[in-house]
Amino acid sequence: MDLNIHACSDGEEALAKGNWVKLICGASNQDLPAISDLCAVYATAGVHCIDVAPDAAVVCAAREALDWVEAAIGIRPWLMISLSDGADKHFRKAWFDPKRCPLTCPRPCQAKCPAKAITNFAGVNTKRCYGCGRCLSACPLGLIEEKEEHLCIKDFAPLIAELRPDAIEIHTAPGRQKEFRKAVAAIMEANVSFKRVAVSCGLQGYGINSEELAQELWERHACLRHHEQKPLWQLDGRRMSGDIGKGTAKAAVDLWAKLHPLAPPGPLQLAGGTNAKTIQYFLNQNGPAGIAFGGMARQLIQPWLLKADANQISLREWPEGWQAALAAAKQLVNPWLFRKSGPEVC
Ligand code: SF4
Ligand code: SF4
Repeated sequence: MDLNIHACSDGEEALAKGNWVKLICGASNQDLPAISDLCAVYATAGVHCIDVAPDAAVVCAAREALDWVEAAIGIRPWLMISLSDGADKHFRKAWFDPKRCPLTCPRPCQAKCPAKAITNFAGVNTKRCYGCGRCLSACPLGLIEEKEEHLCIKDFAPLIAELRPDAIEIHTAPGRQKEFRKAVAAIMEANVSFKRVAVSCGLQGYGINSEELAQELWERHACLRHHEQKPLWQLDGRRMSGDIGKGTAKAAVDLWAKLHPLAPPGPLQLAGGTNAKTIQYFLNQNGPAGIAFGGMARQLIQPWLLKADANQISLREWPEGWQAALAAAKQLVNPWLFRKSGPEVC
């Protein structure tokens, strides 16, 4: 029996019942050759939200996967994009001046690009390039370079108006109240309606205690309510979702234990170092509204993503690989999708 047909696919209902699961897949653009398959596997496994980097190429790859999943099984997770109210390195993109290319060049850069970001007689289409770097070594003349793109708060409104995600996440940090208010005001200018505005924050590395962090979250809460937005608090046990080292699961759980009696209204969701062991801390008790998986989710299905990539096919075109990856993804998410204890009510 496929348990997932009985999992709650509605994001709001899942948050209320403590069954919410999010996939964070935008943390590293090095992983993006397989982003569409990564999204397709976890959306099929039943996650409620896919959180990606704020980049047109990434959003396009994720949407392609969500369209496919919706057509195949009739469910569609929210598409969330993550922004920061602080310095955001954003993305590297490839760049070259096509006027410098010899007309006789057989264009190996174009053949190497998996995103079709390089077309005949043209340079790099930055809306398609996701910075994988494959074209750089392909150019015999060394004409291709990397450029870092930085995303500023003033860029938020046009970007969001273009990408139109279902939900937004703002990464913030203690002391950045003013920047947070500016970020929210810029996001509102896009005039897009969001199911939730998630706020991602943690204690690690900031030298403050849980009471002070709660105070920071109350200030963010007042700002979001002012703009009539529904918050979702993402508690980052570790600063990177890709942190899968020893003891990382406990960091997120400890943060939740400290914060849940103090935090403002709104669901609390774990992130940062979460893994398959995190559920064990909540077997016989209530807990958070849900969880986000990043590095662990990617690592689990990486063997099949890599093999599909090596064969230059989509995982969805390789039935055995797809089934194996999906089974691995379900092992990670099912304990949360079918968790009986609801979120702790404070
Ligand atoms: S091959 Fe080059 S142009 Fe294509 S996505 Fe990768 S970095 Fe961008
Ligand atoms: S391989 Fe180099 S020279 Fe040839 S088209 Fe690409 S960038 Fe230009």
